[in-house]
Amino acid sequence: MKISEILRRMLLPRVCLLCDETIDRDKEIPFCEDCEKEWDNFIEIRCNRCGRDRYSCSCLPALIKKNFDLASWAVFYDTESKEIANSLVFALKYQRYRDAIRFCTEIMRDMLLENCRKRGINYKEFAVTYTPRGSIKRRLYTYDQAREMAKYLAELLDIDFVEAFKNIGNKEQKRLSAIERRKNAQRSYVLKKNFENKHKKYFLVDDIMTTGSTLLYCSRLLISAGATEVIPVTYAKDNYKTKGDY
Ligand SMILES: [Zn+2]
Ligand SMILES: [Zn+2]
Repeated sequence: MKISEILRRMLLPRVCLLCDETIDRDKEIPFCEDCEKEWDNFIEIRCNRCGRDRYSCSCLPALIKKNFDLASWAVFYDTESKEIANSLVFALKYQRYRDAIRFCTEIMRDMLLENCRKRGINYKEFAVTYTPRGSIKRRLYTYDQAREMAKYLAELLDIDFVEAFKNIGNKEQKRLSAIERRKNAQRSYVLKKNFENKHKKYFLVDDIMTTGSTLLYCSRLLISAGATEVIPVTYAKDNYKTKGDY
């Protein structure tokens, strides 16, 4: 254990990721009893489009469907009806909650392994990379949740973690329309100068899949550098209410 971790444990109580109530250090799920119940309901959410659960829903944004054989995601992200999704993503994004990173990444890993098993994909042939936040966000929050998740995923799977991209953009994807997102993604990401395509196959990590434009653009950069396979891996997928392609 690192000294910083020992100090943190001595000084700060462990808190529930959703309500900040103090919880036991050794509790397996990082929620208080009440929030654990809410989480159990959250994980049972069904797809707004096909009505299936998270294991059997295969709805994907049109961009992703068209361009990838497989995209792995773990839970539905539902901004309108479920506070828990927002709280957890908030914990991931804006607070340095190691518990949130670990908890969400482990769920992401479980779903990825399940998807690989179904498709006969050998995950050991892959390396893990991620789509980095913009500089404004990094400066503001001092850490990048997608990077932390990607690093931990690589550690869990015992495969390489690779820094492939630099984010040179200054706009947040969140506030943009679908078309603007595509343009903004193209302006925002470049391959790192020292990036060497040693691995050929990549898991491309992002926290949330919305339209898929960032994932698509970053995967094209990897392919232009010689990658043969890219699989997007996200923690949450937007659970859209509207029908048809999205
Ligand atoms: Zn709680
Ligand atoms: Zn579905």
